[in-house]
Amino acid sequence: MSEYVPMRLPRRRSVAVQVGSVMVGGDAPVVVQSMTNTDTADADATVAQVAALARAGSELVRITVDRDESAAAVPRIRERLDRIGVNVPLIGDFHYIGHKLLADHPACAEALAKYRINPGNVGFKAKRDTQFSQIIDIAQKYDKPVRIGVNWGSLDQELLTKLMDENAASPNPIAASAVMREAIIQSGLLSAERAESLGMARNKIILSAKVSNVQDLIAVYADLAARCDYALHLGLTEAGMGTKGIVASAASMGILLQQGIGDTIRVSLTPEPGGDRSKEVQVAQELLQVMGFRAFVPVVAACPGCGRTTSTVFQELASDIQEHIRVSMPVWREQYPGVENLNVAVMGCIVNGPGESKFADIGISLPGTGESPSAPVFIDGEKVMTLRGPSIAEDFKAMVLGYIEQ
Ligand code: SF4
Repeated sequence: MSEYVPMRLPRRRSVAVQVGSVMVGGDAPVVVQSMTNTDTADADATVAQVAALARAGSELVRITVDRDESAAAVPRIRERLDRIGVNVPLIGDFHYIGHKLLADHPACAEALAKYRINPGNVGFKAKRDTQFSQIIDIAQKYDKPVRIGVNWGSLDQELLTKLMDENAASPNPIAASAVMREAIIQSGLLSAERAESLGMARNKIILSAKVSNVQDLIAVYADLAARCDYALHLGLTEAGMGTKGIVASAASMGILLQQGIGDTIRVSLTPEPGGDRSKEVQVAQELLQVMGFRAFVPVVAACPGCGRTTSTVFQELASDIQEHIRVSMPVWREQYPGVENLNVAVMGCIVNGPGESKFADIGISLPGTGESPSAPVFIDGEKVMTLRGPSIAEDFKAMVLGYIEQ
């Protein structure tokens, strides 16, 4: 199997933050994270979803902690996850009353690996500073890092108004959208500064500044990255459903990652009703893998097919192999270390088939229309045999497994 060589593009230097067993920032690879959509007070449902997300490859999982019942459930959720061998660190997502929930539920404060604080939602204006300080104090008491997570949907309105007023009074006012971006950045930086002034170490702080517009996200993070060395969590908020959410997330985060910006990512997809929450983990992994930053699962390269592929054998085999890999990965990962680096090619005919197959670890070029019903197979760049007959697909699947086992 070809050895995977991760891309060594220059990466922005950030301060590494230990989140439970997972390192974020510094020299650590970009971490994939996700968030549950269960009611955290429902421990059964939350344990099941956290486990599913972790098994799909989420390296950190965030859960909502919005009231006493959910805070009380957190230690039970942690305990049950540990019992079934799911050790993924849990992050508590707090808004409005985080200071109170953490103070009233010490077991919750202890069980979480990180606290997410939204500076725009720390509490009512008059008490905001005190409540923010309380959360930072508790984080220090339990030795937990925090993510100061700004979201433009809940931006600190006081700060925004102040910057808008200053801009209006300026002899050279800038566009309102630029003031909004500045407010998002300042909200994060000022809160981080305040946390440090309260004694929190830099290696306990992660920042994020999420917006829902692709160009704004790129501009905000590029600016934020240049103005600090805190580890950064990337995410396009409210990315949306289906292909739109995937494309928007990949476009925005792909550009930032290519610039070396981002230490952990979340792809926030709105699931179809009853849809699989793990999809966002899969998309985040695929984004990092197609960009060459990390390897998670074997890659199946397949051509799109065209008028030369009138039979469905080629599409069926490509999708069969992909599914076979997806289902087998939990076991393969244990049994065959490095299997995630495997490259398989399933090509529709001899036009590009042999060439592409030679670049894969193992590849097959199925017969197109007018070609003899034979399928050359390439291993490590060499043609090793030609498969014929009705069992080409099954034979090739067996060869892929044989290759992995070797
Ligand atoms: Fe068409 Fe063959 Fe190219 Fe596939 S490899 S797209 S079947 S010409």
